[in-house]
Amino acid sequence: MDVTTFLSALTGSFSQSAGKNPTVSIMEAGFEAAHMDVRYINCEVAPQDLANAVKGAIAMGWLGFNCSLPHKEKIIAHLDSVGESARLIGAVNTVVIRDGQLTGENTDGKGFVEALRTQRDPRDAQAIIFGAGGAARAIAIELALAGATSITIVNRTAARGQALAEHVDQSTEAECSFTPWESQYKIPEDSDLIINATSIGFSPQDDQTLDVDLSTFPTGAVVADVVPNPPMTRWLQAAQDAGCVPLTGVGMLVNQALVNAKLWTGETLDAAVMHRALEEALGIS
Ligand code: NDP
Repeated sequence: MDVTTFLSALTGSFSQSAGKNPTVSIMEAGFEAAHMDVRYINCEVAPQDLANAVKGAIAMGWLGFNCSLPHKEKIIAHLDSVGESARLIGAVNTVVIRDGQLTGENTDGKGFVEALRTQRDPRDAQAIIFGAGGAARAIAIELALAGATSITIVNRTAARGQALAEHVDQSTEAECSFTPWESQYKIPEDSDLIINATSIGFSPQDDQTLDVDLSTFPTGAVVADVVPNPPMTRWLQAAQDAGCVPLTGVGMLVNQALVNAKLWTGETLDAAVMHRALEEALGIS
């Protein structure tokens, strides 16, 4: 390996553990296919080392980095500026370093919206979002900024769902409200975008599905899942069987990586190459 090249254009992730991270496979495959001398590495950064890790990235000329939990909120104190959606979401998962200046963005929701655009325009959507955690928050804000008309948050813990709905309603143009999650929840007929943004369907909850009356899926609606593995969750299979259009969490992950690479390098990488790399990394090809 040419070490000079290796150090000249680094990107990566500041994670709690330096274990296997599918984003490494996606980014490395994308950069390689584009013949770019850019690498992506996963670094274990303990919370107390975050400030030094940031200084190190600047000193080594990194183009930027991703932050996963527990750094997504704490990183904001180390940045020079924060993009609009990251400010509204209150969390940063992508940092761009340019001329020593650090800008924070949140690309979780942007990845979702870009994946959604392959099926429909988010404008005028009447969306139902199950969940009120980090993924739901990012998706709700980004959908609202992309022109969704109405968003209903449905969550197990009412206080969390209520707080998210009020925040989105007050800080964006979209109408956003909370509905308590009653057993066998009935999806309103006029919903045209229905999203599982909970962790149900993801290991160890991969044999479970949402407590929803599956006979109420409106035919033709886009039904999405944030869970990337397995791609076709029980939730998505039921939606497809009911005549809906399924959107897997794989697209969200790949599109997030595409948005990150564009922010860092200005280049649009090959989505198909990255899609295949992710499938291989997850063992689903
Ligand atoms: P959080 O822990 O922040 O939130 C989890 C949400 O799931 C909460 O709303 C929680 O409800 C709900 N939930 C969990 N278990 C249940 C259950 N048994 N019944 C009802 N509700 C439940 O997690 P994140 O938002 O960060 O992540 C959620 C999922 O999104 C994960 O599977 C993650 O892997 C995935 N993800 C995918 C991405 C992609 O690119 N494809 C990107 C980011 C995340 P309550 O508030 O009541 O606890």
